[in-house]
Amino acid sequence: MARVHNFSAGPAALPESVLTQIANEMLDYQGCGMSVLEMSHRSSMYQQIIDDAEASLRRLLDIPQNYRVIFLQGGATLQFAGIPMNFMRTGRAGYVVTGNFAKKAWKEAAKYGDAVKLASSEDTDFDRIPALAPVRERASAGDLDYVYICQNNTIFGTMFHELPQCGDAPLFADVSSCFLSQPLDISRYGLVYAGAQKNAGAAGVTVIIVRDDLLEDGPAFAQTPQYMDLRLQAQKGSMLNTPNTFGIYVCGKVFRWVEETGGLEAMAQRNWAKANLLYDLLDNSQIFHGTAQKDSRSIANVTFRTDSDELNAQFVAGAHERGIENIKGHRLVGGMRASVYNAVTMEDVEALAAYMHEFEAEHA
Ligand code: PMP
Repeated sequence: MARVHNFSAGPAALPESVLTQIANEMLDYQGCGMSVLEMSHRSSMYQQIIDDAEASLRRLLDIPQNYRVIFLQGGATLQFAGIPMNFMRTGRAGYVVTGNFAKKAWKEAAKYGDAVKLASSEDTDFDRIPALAPVRERASAGDLDYVYICQNNTIFGTMFHELPQCGDAPLFADVSSCFLSQPLDISRYGLVYAGAQKNAGAAGVTVIIVRDDLLEDGPAFAQTPQYMDLRLQAQKGSMLNTPNTFGIYVCGKVFRWVEETGGLEAMAQRNWAKANLLYDLLDNSQIFHGTAQKDSRSIANVTFRTDSDELNAQFVAGAHERGIENIKGHRLVGGMRASVYNAVTMEDVEALAAYMHEFEAEHA
């Protein structure tokens, strides 16, 4: 069996030990004679699986008691609508536009009310996190239902290194591509959510962590579909209808793996070591350059390019020949992107770095 060096931005590499456990449990989950895929979500066996997943996540992130954990379907994208549907109570919220997914969330919110653009880095092709002082100033007016950020910008390789001050407005963050990459102080947010397909598990699960007082009044719009009603989903323990049973099981396995490999501090150290190996290489390269400004660099998505589309394509093709996969940049930006999520090993990154040196020696 030959596993490749997988730098996919998501769905992304999973820990091999997790894949092996899943394979071993596929036909007969813990002696019950069936697969998790075949199990009723109302069974006590399955309830244990979802309870264990939540408990493990609570330990990892040290989630305060007054926050609820919800596992939904529909990807991060459905929450672009779900957030205004639930929380745009007075009809106005602030958005920091730092990339494609933040912009989509902002546009979606504009269908439900006044989505105020508080800051943007679009003028420099989203190569940075913009200055956050205007966010603080605008939020201090006190008329925003929440302030929304996309904490790590998967396509552009940027990340917030400090959080905006939002006055009385709760901070909501899409943490899809930095979830479980590093510690996250949940108490600083009203809500965080993440598509699971990067660091947390399988595609088809969105993890939402929300402060319970924000749910008390129910959705902001009466016509909110019951599936999207976060108060109801929290009340029903993510079981309003049939959840993504298998996906949540995979998340639980991944959460346990993060705990067993030292938790989030250790994960952050390993992730920065991997990312910095590549950033250092880029800073010293004659032909490759990083596309994100240095003080905005992501822990998870390292974006880079040469000055020639032809060389970029040659690099990607050569990578494939060496078992280095999914290194092509997002179609919106071209170039290259190495996503160094939790399950990507230092050995994977070293293989990529060695190839980059080799390519540079040939083409510089
Ligand atoms: N937000 C971020 C930061 C993302 O990287 C992505 C896509 N991977 C999305 C939102 C959209 O996620 P989904 O495909 O799960 O809807």
